[in-house]
Amino acid sequence: MRRVFVAGNWKMNLSRDETRKLVEGLRDEVGDEDRLDLAVAPPFVYLAEAVAAADGSNITVAAQNVYFEEKGAYTGEISPGMLLDVGCTYGIVGHSERRHVIGETDELIARKVKAALDAGLKVILCVGELLGEREAGSTNDVVRTQVVKGLFDLPAEAMADVVIAYEPVWAIGTGVTAEPEDANEVHAFIRALLAEKFGRRVADDMTIQYGGSVKADNAAELMAQTDVDGALVGGASLKVDSFVGIIRNTIEAKGLG
Ligand code: PEP
Repeated sequence: MRRVFVAGNWKMNLSRDETRKLVEGLRDEVGDEDRLDLAVAPPFVYLAEAVAAADGSNITVAAQNVYFEEKGAYTGEISPGMLLDVGCTYGIVGHSERRHVIGETDELIARKVKAALDAGLKVILCVGELLGEREAGSTNDVVRTQVVKGLFDLPAEAMADVVIAYEPVWAIGTGVTAEPEDANEVHAFIRALLAEKFGRRVADDMTIQYGGSVKADNAAELMAQTDVDGALVGGASLKVDSFVGIIRNTIEAKGLG
């Protein structure tokens, strides 16, 4: 069954102490929440701190990136097995900052997705178009390419461990969100693609998050959309109040209350 899922991407922010305090604060407010799935994604160096602080709660921990090799001479990289070893549940793959700032390609992203899943790490695959691509009317083409290249070499069974985050790049960290209906249209398009490849039942069970300037005060409208199954949140996940506000408004908008 499709699960609603709200995750916080903390990017390159917070100290070790702040990471622990933020997880503890979330835990106090929503640590027992089982009506939806929750995750936080601190920087690699604070993953163990976050896992320890979340222990025994329903808050899971995600890595912001993952490499495709299991071990060896890959200086600076972190393998799926290492992430599992420190207690991560998810790896975020293909975030727009990795695609467009670091220069990751669809081919590299596909290798990372496969390696993570093979090792037993769940994947949040991020897709989304640039502003110029939206203005040129090529949103669906861009998203199709990213979904096809990221996932279509995998078997349908693997989709049980895949979450897609649709994040229009122009909405990330800008304070501008997609219109809820526009976001839903892209989500429905992605689900139709997944249904064509993996079958309707598999596609209907998959969680597709929206990301891009989600805040407590716009979450309800976005989450009320039928094909929007939660959020990947950047800036507003860095404070207990704003992140919990998004989680509570999501529970309400999705009728989970
Ligand atoms: C993100 O980093 O995935 C994101 C959606 O950031 P923000 O919520 O700050 O736009």
